[in-house]
Amino acid sequence: AHLERIREVEPKVKAFTLVTDELALEQAKEADKRFASGENLYPLTGIPLAIKDVICTKDITTTCGSRMLENFKPPYNATVMERLNETGFVMVGKTNMDEFAMGSSTEHSAFFPTNNPWDLERAPGGSSGGSAAAVAAGMAMGSYGSDTGGSIRQPGSLCNLVGLKPTYGRVSRFGLVAFASSLDQIGPFARNARDAAILLQAIAGHDRRDGTSSPEPVQDYEAALSGSIKGLRIGVPEEYWVEGTQPGVVSTVKANIERLREMGAEVSPVSLPHTKYGVAAYYIIAPAEASSNLSRYDGVKYGYSYRDTSDMWEAMEKTREIGFGAEVKRRIMLGTYALSAGYYDAYYKRAEKIRTLIKQDFDQAFEKFDALVSPAAPTVAFKIGEISDPYQMYLQDVFTIPANLAGICGVSIPGGFSENLPVGLQLLGNVFKEDVILRIADAFE
Ligand code: GLN
Repeated sequence: AHLERIREVEPKVKAFTLVTDELALEQAKEADKRFASGENLYPLTGIPLAIKDVICTKDITTTCGSRMLENFKPPYNATVMERLNETGFVMVGKTNMDEFAMGSSTEHSAFFPTNNPWDLERAPGGSSGGSAAAVAAGMAMGSYGSDTGGSIRQPGSLCNLVGLKPTYGRVSRFGLVAFASSLDQIGPFARNARDAAILLQAIAGHDRRDGTSSPEPVQDYEAALSGSIKGLRIGVPEEYWVEGTQPGVVSTVKANIERLREMGAEVSPVSLPHTKYGVAAYYIIAPAEASSNLSRYDGVKYGYSYRDTSDMWEAMEKTREIGFGAEVKRRIMLGTYALSAGYYDAYYKRAEKIRTLIKQDFDQAFEKFDALVSPAAPTVAFKIGEISDPYQMYLQDVFTIPANLAGICGVSIPGGFSENLPVGLQLLGNVFKEDVILRIADAFE
């Protein structure tokens, strides 16, 4: 049924870089066998899911939305894929994304933009726009994306989904093509909190192949969905009501905050004073890490290789000139500059100090609160081509970036509509408190 749906709507939505229909049917047959025997059954057995094209899938192209990796077939699976394969899930395809996960609209894919199923002229958000659109259009029951500065929560918000960024270290990054290693996390998109809980459960946990993965025991996320939020203390960060947020977003989110109160939560304001430096610090740290991570694309080890010269330097330069798109080059330039000897203290070191201050803001807030609530994105879905200034695009993540800098977990959940377009609510939880934010998300539905 899902492949049928893909045939029907994918030409309009363009969520996938690759539809793995043959594999899906094979995996579905395998799942049928498991059901027949009653053995090896998991909540995800036979469930059709889509995977962002930044997660390595053995022998299946993993493009990262880039010319550089257009024909790259990883010789191994990401840990997340190994865990999913064990459950007997069904992969319907790999999803489109901003090149190397840099962007907030999926327009920076080297191949084509993805359209928002709620209005095909609009962007689904990004960088995991394909994963969000696939679920929103009914082409998969759930999907996985990656979130470095908001790339799950912002498209979740623009596509009316539950999109969860786990605590840093909760999910293995082994086999996730690196963008900014100290910020990247894989997480799920789902239509409701229960599905998100199941999707997170399947991938969470320690992995010795990722040195930053945490040994902290994994909670039972579904068991946490009690249906009640009575007595939970929820903070509303004052600094998250910033200029530039659409009035329809502000009023929708405020109405939802009222509802949380009516449901029995103790809601009160909280201050996170360093919020205003978040985007600036992120756009030093993320490009710095990216410039280092992306140095591996030299035309020798992976992917695209310019061969039309006998000069090594020219081959490397041309490989990167042709293989990378404009936004990726901008990040590499920014990051290289910020890390260069004379500027390191002024930019990178300073940004890391801000990062610590932002983390301390959250530490203090979570002494008094179980969760925080804010808008997930400053706007509803915008028209494709509408945001041409990179700085304006960067501001899409003004509410999501602080959680990545601090390493805490966050989820965007459907909060209603403004001018017929979805508005998302963001819930932030302390480290390893995915159970708390999922419980609120579930009770809120
Ligand atoms: N939009 C942000 C960026 O371009 C975040 C992307 C992400 O989370 N991968 O860096």
